[in-house]
Amino acid sequence: MQYNDNAQLDSSQMGGGGGGGGGRIAIGGGIGGTILILILSLVFGVDLSGLTGGGSTSADPQAETSRYSQCRTGADVRTNRDCRFVAYTNSIQQYWSTQVKGYETTKTITFTGRISTGCGTADSSVGPFYCPAQGDHKVYLDTGFFDQLQSQFGARGGDAAEAYVIAHEYGHHVSNLLGKMDWAAQDRSTGPNSRGVKIELQADCFAGAWLAHASDDPNSPITQVTQDDVNRALDAAAAVGDDRIQQKSQGQVTPETWTHGSSQQRQQATTTGFQSGPNACLQITQ
Ligand SMILES: [Zn+2]
Repeated sequence: MQYNDNAQLDSSQMGGGGGGGGGRIAIGGGIGGTILILILSLVFGVDLSGLTGGGSTSADPQAETSRYSQCRTGADVRTNRDCRFVAYTNSIQQYWSTQVKGYETTKTITFTGRISTGCGTADSSVGPFYCPAQGDHKVYLDTGFFDQLQSQFGARGGDAAEAYVIAHEYGHHVSNLLGKMDWAAQDRSTGPNSRGVKIELQADCFAGAWLAHASDDPNSPITQVTQDDVNRALDAAAAVGDDRIQQKSQGQVTPETWTHGSSQQRQQATTTGFQSGPNACLQITQ
């Protein structure tokens, strides 16, 4: 993935964990939020144990926010690798603001340890997620996840793999804005043809659509997406397929419990978005 040295980076689209209110939110009645997260996060099928707990956050919002404050242009990615997260986020949102009428710009919040969100308290073990709750609408991740993507899930990694993960979460934001989240929430069953899996495949598809057009805008911080980049994104999509994760973690595959889709389904959806664009992704949830 090549960056445009002269492109402006907007670090205001990044944030640190915790937020206002002393880092605590009421989660007493949080069942709904928890279930929503169950549908929407877990791109990576990790355990959900971190989601329901209360207590304070150990994240340091200030430190996380200041990680990105020096990211001003694409050239900064060379000297400060944290700036690549700003570049992905900016490019993804730049794309969607041209594709979705009334697109609502949101933020990528990075954290370590635990974080309070509009969907409840989460910890890093949940993996990257999107909170669809009113008043939140943010993408959350512990950037340490990207090491896990390689070490635990066996992905080849690379910037395009990371960008795919973040673009997947923004794909949920787009689906949410289009009302597709509500559609998915009406049926909480699992399995390869469930609404839950379809909403995940739509997010993969939207990620593919962005990847194909990441460098179209002359102001995009990303200037080039190579075939190797595409391969790495598809490799990451396959690495987090439910069948592959189940095979690794429990030695057997049980399709009826799938929540995100198989490696093949996820690669196919990403490819559909890449080749055919966002309209093809909308058909997934018809
Ligand atoms: Zn997802």
